[in-house]
Amino acid sequence: MGFLYRSTRNADETATASEAILKGLAGEGGLFVPDEIPTLDISMKELSKMTYREVAFEVMKLMLTDFTDEELRYCINNAYDSKFDNELIVPVKYHHNAYIAELFHGKTIAFKDMALSILPYLMTTAARKNNIKNEIVILTATSGDTGKAALAGFADVPGTRIAVFYPKNGVSPIQEKQMVTEKGKNTFVAGITGNFDDAQTGVKNIFNNTELAKELDEKGFQFSSANSINIGRLVPQIVYYVYSYTRLIASGKIEEGNKINIVVPTGNFGNILAAYYASLMGVPVDRFICASNDNKVLYDFFTTGTYDRNRDFILTSSPSMDILISSNLERLIYRIAGNSAEDNAEFMKQLSETGKYTITDQMKKNLFHFYGNYATTDEVAETIRKVYDEDGYIIDTHTAVAVNVFDKYRAETGDTTPTIIASTASPYKFTRSVMTAIDPAYDSKGDFELVDELERLSATPVPQAIEEIRSAEVIHNTVCDKEDMEKVVRQFLGI
Ligand SMILES: *Cc1c(COP(=O)(O)O)cnc(C)c1O
Repeated sequence: MGFLYRSTRNADETATASEAILKGLAGEGGLFVPDEIPTLDISMKELSKMTYREVAFEVMKLMLTDFTDEELRYCINNAYDSKFDNELIVPVKYHHNAYIAELFHGKTIAFKDMALSILPYLMTTAARKNNIKNEIVILTATSGDTGKAALAGFADVPGTRIAVFYPKNGVSPIQEKQMVTEKGKNTFVAGITGNFDDAQTGVKNIFNNTELAKELDEKGFQFSSANSINIGRLVPQIVYYVYSYTRLIASGKIEEGNKINIVVPTGNFGNILAAYYASLMGVPVDRFICASNDNKVLYDFFTTGTYDRNRDFILTSSPSMDILISSNLERLIYRIAGNSAEDNAEFMKQLSETGKYTITDQMKKNLFHFYGNYATTDEVAETIRKVYDEDGYIIDTHTAVAVNVFDKYRAETGDTTPTIIASTASPYKFTRSVMTAIDPAYDSKGDFELVDELERLSATPVPQAIEEIRSAEVIHNTVCDKEDMEKVVRQFLGI
């Protein structure tokens, strides 16, 4: 039946793929990692002739070893359909000397849709396979985009409920409006007085509360996670790197086997980790370019080998990357420590006790293919304007972080390897920051006036996700202290 998944903090804790998806998090705060990463059993040339769904099947069947082919096809076909406003699912466009993989054509116009449109299907299939009778309660901390994408994915899915926590003052107006207007009957949304790390820590604490888990089980509930710590999110994210690479072959830009670089605007380290897993599966990647905003913990980590979260949390124009604890980095730490749960657990203990840790020289050597840099909020605005001036293409603030770091990398190294940039959100999601970057005078206009102006400038129709919230009614108005997250979850469940 193939390999198992194992906890990054306890080598004795294993799970099948479906169990790992159901649990979300392993015990003791560990994350599930695959015991092996299989290489694709079909050539890139053949993959280049396939549709997104077909590529998804080839990748996911190797990683989700206990799902049958029928189960996977059911999940994939229901996820990647007309919910996406582009039939390619991920169009790859050439601008600013790079291949921009537009990952934002799903329901909530951020790349989170790539995984969250399939996660509910994977989760309910996993529940069926494991004879789970409890209702599954998805708990999610969001820096803005995961929240709405998870709500959209799980809304009214039988056998599930979903609670989302976001930093009350840490998301864009459009992001907030998208979440608080969610209509699904099984949904709950709360702003917390704290930042994203507080929300994420609160959710992890609820997960790690074994007493609460027992009580829930007696009452017919169990928690799971829609955050990128769930391998049910990580695995679908591998797909679009394989897909994007093979589109470059299909269009004759590269030949099979040619190396590429990949630039990823990074927060929780899930998206770039998926790129790394894609390379282990066979996509020839030379450099993983990790782009950060002013919260540049990862840049410092890649340059010094010390991860240090002891610093001020900065609110930037790319809020979905305003994170100081990049949870998925743990999976890379585990790997570069020689798949050692013991060593990794020690680093994570230091992180939680002192806020930092330093990796060994050998581990640093294992990071050879990673490069980190960052872009300030001013540089992000300049980059949006520059790319717009070149050929009228408008990028969002997160993608602009990536483009800016791509420019820095090229200037520093002279490396001209063909490069894929992960474009993680539609500019419509961060309209104010994007439009004022193009012309500061736009700041006097209202949010939806800016939407219409963006439509005019970009000649790209306003996405459905934005039209929907123009006049939508606010349904969720809970705001709670970070200490009260468990309490409001209990109220939501009626326990
Ligand atoms: C979540 C998000 C990111 C960061 O992705 P990670 O997987 O957390 O590193 C970047 N850009 C946008 C628009 C996002 O929503």
